[in-house]
Amino acid sequence: MGSMEEHNTSTVATSTCIVRHVRPAIRSVEADVCVVGSGAAGLSAALESARMGRRTILVDSLPVLGGQAVNSIIGTFCGLFSNGSHGYQFTHGIADQILADLGKEPDALHYQRGPMTTVVYYDEVALSHWVDRTIRASGTTVLLNAVIDRVLVEGRRIRSVEFATRWGRVRVDATGWIDATGDAALVWQAGWACREPANGPVFGTQMVVLENIDEAHQPTREKLSARLAALAGDYGLVRREGLAFVIPGRCIAAMNMTHVETPLDPLAASAATLEGRDQANRAVRFLREQFPRCFGAARVRAYGFPGIRQTRWIVGRQQLTLADVRAGTRFPDAVARTAWPVELHDHGSGHVWQTFAEDHVHYVPLGSLLPEEADNVAAAGRCIDADAAALSSVRVMGPCMATGAAAAHALDLAGTGSVHQIDINELARRVRDNVERTD
Ligand SMILES: Cc1cc2nc3c(=O)[nH]c(=O)nc-3n(C[C@H](O)[C@H](O)[C@H](O)COP(=O)(O)OP(=O)(O)OC[C@H]3O[C@@H](n4cnc5c(N)ncnc54)[C@H](O)[C@@H]3O)c2cc1C
Repeated sequence: MGSMEEHNTSTVATSTCIVRHVRPAIRSVEADVCVVGSGAAGLSAALESARMGRRTILVDSLPVLGGQAVNSIIGTFCGLFSNGSHGYQFTHGIADQILADLGKEPDALHYQRGPMTTVVYYDEVALSHWVDRTIRASGTTVLLNAVIDRVLVEGRRIRSVEFATRWGRVRVDATGWIDATGDAALVWQAGWACREPANGPVFGTQMVVLENIDEAHQPTREKLSARLAALAGDYGLVRREGLAFVIPGRCIAAMNMTHVETPLDPLAASAATLEGRDQANRAVRFLREQFPRCFGAARVRAYGFPGIRQTRWIVGRQQLTLADVRAGTRFPDAVARTAWPVELHDHGSGHVWQTFAEDHVHYVPLGSLLPEEADNVAAAGRCIDADAAALSSVRVMGPCMATGAAAAHALDLAGTGSVHQIDINELARRVRDNVERTD
């Protein structure tokens, strides 16, 4: 016995002395396509590229995949179905896979078919598992904890990007690049033009999962909003509307009741993160005290990562406008569609909410994914080019998935040429399900 203990101790105590080299060698990776950002848009782009046989690398500054869909605990897929209680599905591809696979798991999906449209509640843990296993099975190379540091641009092309990771630097050389960072971080750091909201910030939200909810006594949305409008000041709450939607059958609720600025300055962004969590705690106290039968015993189970809506986005070859959205303009190069309302969180106390008729559809043109100044870059998700109001209606996850897929196809068709000179008819053929299908 004594000798066994000695043996184990000596094994545990073994170590090797290492010293940092003055200039450690940079790790380098080559790919056909590099997707930066692994939210709904980046995942869709990476999976589509990999499916086409392209060597794909997916990079994210977080330690886990899934962007806001997983890590900010968004909780529902919106903009995925046409209006009315039984609308058809607007976006396919990755959305079909998610709905089919999570649909087989107990309580991982719930279709809420309201009078306005269908939204799909999802379990973010189940989605996270799905993302991990699907990306691994696709053969995509993954680089996590990696923030864009230097972008090497030659003329109208990005040649390589150096990422700083917690384990050292990595250089990626790729033929094509997809900016799915939400903040247009890749295009910005390449030195190309971007846009910011002109009339002040678009607010984000600190999402929270509450457990110990009594689902049977859930207040109506109208009652909650009226009480919040009357008492927000007493609880130090900025936002005077919002919702805490109970996830059916799971005794938990997702609380979306805060409004926090999401600046791009590092110190201001960090301070805003703490402010968001404090605001969320005040909102929890409001719910517990004002609706004790439902929320009296509620506890915070998890804080999402800061929820960011609209910060900075690309200047594209074409900007989608609110007039286009309202008119449902059908662009010749349409690559995505939705009927989600204008949902602009442009003031602290609330947000603009403009819904559309049951037969309404609005479209996203390829031109709004393509930075004017670049030949081998496409944007996807919430950093495509649209005016602030139009963007608020196409940044939900349904259209984000569609623009991700379209970005992958645009780069595939461009090869070593320019995304501005691809065969538009062939692109339309490839993305037809996301633009025309109505079953
Ligand atoms: C509070 C809130 C509630 C919402 N509710 C809904 C809803 O119910 N339904 C719905 O469909 N949509 C909702 N939305 C909108 C939707 O969640 C987002 O717009 C959508 O998820 C954006 O997806 P994305 O892939 O474009 O970006 P994101 O999910 O933001 O992914 C971007 C990724 O890029 C990475 N990244 C950023 N910068 C860098 C960098 N410099 N280097 C490396 N990586 C970087 C980030 O870490 C992140 O993972 C909500 C948004 C918020 C904020």
